[in-house]
Amino acid sequence: MLGLMQDWPLLCQRIIDHAAACHPNREVVTRSIEGPIHRTNYGEIRKRALKVAQRLDRDGIVLGDRVATLAWNTWRHMELWYGIMGIGAICHTVNPRLFPEQIAWIINHAKGRILCADATFVPLLEKLSGHLEFIERFVILTDRENMPNTSLRGAIAYEDWIDGVDGDFAWKSFDENTAAGLCYTSGTTGNPKGVLYSHRSNVLQSLMTAQADVMGLSCNDTVLPIVPLFHANSWAYVFQAPMVGSKIVFPGAKLDGPSVYELLRDENVTSTAGVPTVWLMLQQHMESENLRLPSLRNLTIGGAAPPPTMIEGFQRMGIAARQGWGMTEMGPVGSIGYLKPPFEGLTGAEKLAQLSSQGFAPFLVEMKITDDFGAKLPRDGKAFGRLKVRGPSVAKGYFGLNDQVLDEEGYFDTGDVATIDEHAYMRITDRSKDVIKSGGEWISSIEIENVAAAHPSVQEVAVIAVPHPKWGERPLLVVQTKPGAEASKSTILAYLEGKIAKWWMPDDVVMDTIPHTATGKVRKSELRERYRNHQLPSVSASSRPLSDGETSKSGRANLHS
Ligand code: AMP
Repeated sequence: MLGLMQDWPLLCQRIIDHAAACHPNREVVTRSIEGPIHRTNYGEIRKRALKVAQRLDRDGIVLGDRVATLAWNTWRHMELWYGIMGIGAICHTVNPRLFPEQIAWIINHAKGRILCADATFVPLLEKLSGHLEFIERFVILTDRENMPNTSLRGAIAYEDWIDGVDGDFAWKSFDENTAAGLCYTSGTTGNPKGVLYSHRSNVLQSLMTAQADVMGLSCNDTVLPIVPLFHANSWAYVFQAPMVGSKIVFPGAKLDGPSVYELLRDENVTSTAGVPTVWLMLQQHMESENLRLPSLRNLTIGGAAPPPTMIEGFQRMGIAARQGWGMTEMGPVGSIGYLKPPFEGLTGAEKLAQLSSQGFAPFLVEMKITDDFGAKLPRDGKAFGRLKVRGPSVAKGYFGLNDQVLDEEGYFDTGDVATIDEHAYMRITDRSKDVIKSGGEWISSIEIENVAAAHPSVQEVAVIAVPHPKWGERPLLVVQTKPGAEASKSTILAYLEGKIAKWWMPDDVVMDTIPHTATGKVRKSELRERYRNHQLPSVSASSRPLSDGETSKSGRANLHS
């Protein structure tokens, strides 16, 4: 027997309808690409999103068509999200930080028909347009006054484009499982893969992230999403903020420390989220100028593991910082480092240790860790294995590919290696491709990085595996020092001494610049390539390869002793 409740499909456009009905005057503030601060509100955003929808409908865009965006976080980009999704088309967010060839590859793979881009990307698109075979017209996200002269096909200023319709339009209606958004993973190995969100997964993801122990936004909050609309579904900020009526502040293209600080201060932001690289710039700016942000009650760090010193640094400034973990394929939130009983009263080093975990899964995310053969590992905080997840906002496949990505229990392998403890706190020890396999045992690059990052002269570190004739792989520590600071190999190694297991000690330390990916992660593949032939000092000392019958495990024991 079925329940007798209303059939009310979970569609994204209902979120902006709700915001316009219940929080119409709640502000959406943007540092515009043109420069000045722009102010609008949810009532206006909905009206203009309806114009986008009407315009797309008139331009012949139908259910399932892809409309691409190449844009920073602004109110116009948000209007596009709702306008595109509201007629059942698919909002394909493209990451402008990718290499131009990757941008072209992604847009072609998705077969987008219209491309909406910030004016800053016009020169790039002019170079690429000959390769963008399916794009019929380019909409430039600006007004007539700021419209650049361009040869792009059918180019029109966004404001003129939506002014061509009157907004007397109704959202289309369709099944809640209809595709809503398309976001490609960064593709550090092989081609990027498209994750295809549905209306239902987006609405459920937003309800999930809005929970008090997750992002915990309310109508009294002001939120500044540093996380881009083009990466990992904007961590659902474009949905969760209007869902609860939080004011939004969009940073546009300026993510340097002073620009972000100014917005956080001037708009009295209470909650914000972004990747460690952006928070590093903010923290350095605030420390050097001795600044404070009294309104900011919550700062979430995700996308890569933050060193505990970063969390501690924000705590010293009176800002509660914690981790979020997730991935594009999860819509994206998977866990939050919130302190639950019996940890809520912790202080000092114990609190920091707890906050250094990636936290626990909220309702709608299920996790397990397994060995390489799929056998479940215990939740004892010690066993580490492949982290697998399932839930209604976790991908079950990739756009245009037939790969089987789920195990027999319906879990998706995240590619991360983690422990889970008896309180359900999960700790990422590595990406499976970054873990260092030394003498048959695994060394966590993240754990060494966390310790090394606390050295006072260090700005950022990365630990990578370097081939070793005896142990298979050994850790190499790459250090980028703070501007003006100096550190030697011996002082760094002396600093690590006693803080990590002896056999985890890096075999060498090099000073270098740390490269980043388009989504703000350390580009370890590039470092591995750079140091592929690096001569470890330990190699000359122990270059004897393993003899037949000598197991690598016994090797580890020797190294340990
Ligand atoms: P993306 O799909 O670009 O968001 O990347 C997802 C990956 O980023 C995850 O699988 C993790 O490897 C990494 N990641 C995200 N958040 C964290 C975190 N808090 N700590 C460690 N790694 C993280």
